[in-house]
Amino acid sequence: MDSASGAGASDPNSGEGPSATGSAPAAEGSSPLPPSRYESQKRRDWNTFLQYLKNHKPPLALSRCSGAHVIEFLKYLDQFGKTKVHISGCPYFGHPNPPSPCACPLKQAWGSLDALIGRLRAAFEENGGRPDSNPFGARPVRIYLREVREGQAKARGIPYEKKKRKRHTVTATTSVVAASAAQENVPAKAIQGGDAGGSGEGSGSGVAQTTTTTTTTTV
Ligand SMILES: [Zn+2]
Repeated sequence: MDSASGAGASDPNSGEGPSATGSAPAAEGSSPLPPSRYESQKRRDWNTFLQYLKNHKPPLALSRCSGAHVIEFLKYLDQFGKTKVHISGCPYFGHPNPPSPCACPLKQAWGSLDALIGRLRAAFEENGGRPDSNPFGARPVRIYLREVREGQAKARGIPYEKKKRKRHTVTATTSVVAASAAQENVPAKAIQGGDAGGSGEGSGSGVAQTTTTTTTTTV
């Protein structure tokens, strides 16, 4: 029947013993909690991707899927995007708020793609894929995402760095700046603390701390 000569030499399932690598697949299927929003989104994304593979010409097996195919998938998704990305010849290239419409294409925003890849990457391993062969974690995919981020940041005039918290109280102190520039660090808290007058529920505490949690990029 099947004259596969040497095709099935490396069966990915054969090496899966309990002591093979020690990476237990964290039995998540039996969790009693209802699926979170993230989980259901992840499932939808995964099904979308499987459907994409199915419709691929020629059909593409998941086991043969590479980073290049993942990038192809991301490009395919661009046609459903809603984010205006100006081409370099557009007069609004680099403008965050163009005054009138232009003919530039709509694409998937970098943030959407980045989050999508994160979910698919997790889904791949939860569905039995091996981490070391995870196409969503492949280097070309990371590079592609970085290029998309930088390209969109330039085209849309929006730096994709964590925005600093607006310090709207700073303006109140500008009159004093000339006198003592060194005191610039102090005012926000001092003013707010005095204003709140007793409701110390952390209105000031949460403001300054969130600046360090920026590193969602690549590991
Ligand atoms: Zn444009």
